[in-house]
Amino acid sequence: MRIGLDLDGVIVDSVSNWIRILNTQFGTNYGPDDLPDTHGTPEMAAFCDDHLIELLMPNRPMPGAVEALGRLRRDGHALVVITARSQCVRRLTEAWLEFYGIQVDELHCLEGADKAAAARAAGIDLLVEDTPKNALAVAAAGVPVLLFGAPYNREVRHPLISRCESWDEVMAQVGVRKAG
Ligand SMILES: [Mg+2]
Repeated sequence: MRIGLDLDGVIVDSVSNWIRILNTQFGTNYGPDDLPDTHGTPEMAAFCDDHLIELLMPNRPMPGAVEALGRLRRDGHALVVITARSQCVRRLTEAWLEFYGIQVDELHCLEGADKAAAARAAGIDLLVEDTPKNALAVAAAGVPVLLFGAPYNREVRHPLISRCESWDEVMAQVGVRKAG
C-alpha cells in the first residue's frame, strides 16, 4: 500500500511543545487537550515563522512510531508523508527524520495547500492524520483515514474514518486492510 502520513501529532510529538511555547510567549491558555493554531493570529504566525527550530527540532517521535514505520517499510509499504509544514523546513524535517532513523519514500510539504487535494494527487490508499479538519476533508474526498487519537479529535466522525489510539492500533488496521 501507499500509506499517507501526517507528521505533527502522528509521527512527531510536537503539540505539547507548541502549547508551552505559545502560552509562554502570548499568555494563551492552551491546555494539554488542545491543538493550538500556531498561525491563529498574524502575531503568532510571525513569531512561529521566526522560531521554527525551537518549534520543530526538540520534539521526539510519538511512542511506537519509529518501530512501526520501520516495520511498515520492511513489509513493502511506501511511506508518503504529507505535512502542512512549509518548504523552508524541508531540510530540517529530513534531518529530524534521519536523526531518529525514520526512512520515508516521499515528503510533501504543503505550506498550507489543501491536504485533500494533495492526498488524492499522491495516490495514497489511506492517511494517518490527527487534525480534525484535515481528517474530515480527506475522508470527504474518498480517501480512508486512520485518525490518530488525541483529546482534540474525540468528536470526529465519518464513515471513512477509523480511530486508532496508538501506533499498535494503526499497525493492526493496516494489517486488516492489506488482508482485505
Ligand atoms: Mg498533525
